[in-house]
Amino acid sequence: MRFDVLTLFPEMFEGFFSSSIMKRAMDQRLVEASLVNFRDYSTDKHRMVDDTPYGGGGGMVLKPEPLFRAVEALTEETQVRPPVLMMSPQGTPFTQKKAEALSRHSRLILLCGHYEGFDERIRRHLVDEEISIGDYVLTGGELAAMVVMDSIIRLVPGVLGNAGSAEEDSFSTGLLEYPQYTRPADFRGWKVPDVLLSGHHAQIARWRRQQSLERTLERRPDLLEHAPLTDEERAWLKQRKSDS
Ligand code: SAH
Repeated sequence: MRFDVLTLFPEMFEGFFSSSIMKRAMDQRLVEASLVNFRDYSTDKHRMVDDTPYGGGGGMVLKPEPLFRAVEALTEETQVRPPVLMMSPQGTPFTQKKAEALSRHSRLILLCGHYEGFDERIRRHLVDEEISIGDYVLTGGELAAMVVMDSIIRLVPGVLGNAGSAEEDSFSTGLLEYPQYTRPADFRGWKVPDVLLSGHHAQIARWRRQQSLERTLERRPDLLEHAPLTDEERAWLKQRKSDS
């Protein structure tokens, strides 16, 4: 999996690339990431990448040329152009499903905006998809690109030590994850549920599934509409809803 990140602030990625799971994945060559400062592709004598908006108004808009040239330089020798993703508050809201779909590509190009954002022609003629990480406005796309990369790399086979650990995560099953406990079995009088200590795998699986359902119903009932549920689970949910 390779990421090419186009940014005016490559230094923002230093901590992310040199820590924890991202670092390990890069050391093991499971993930590769390159940072491109698209200011290097400005043809302007002052290396300008932005300019005032036509029609007036405040702020600065990213010019098309440096970004087009940077993407073209990256893809010059590739036969199939990898998807170009623009970080944008106007994009499709990012979800676990989207992370899963993107993790199937071997390469992605991420564009990080700044200031007032991008000239519309970048959106229209360079970008395949716009991604928003939530309904709020950031000063730049760098944090969004890190969020997107982080959620994708943990799905790349081999990146998480225990292959099972991404599968049961919240959202992967369409539900929120069940509560987790670790040692000690009794912490200040708060005990771990007996079933988890029982060693009875089928009972543990049933308890976890039940907890996942309860938790999702309580916190994110919207997720239940699309979650793959058994008939029995649907009946239980209906019952729970009519009880309350
Ligand atoms: N004027 C623009 C916002 C610009 S914010 C508008 O109203 O649409 C500057 C840059 O930060 C954007 O170009 C984008 O790359 C990034 N950004 C801001 N909020 C974001 C979000 N919620 N998700 C992803 N990227 C975001």
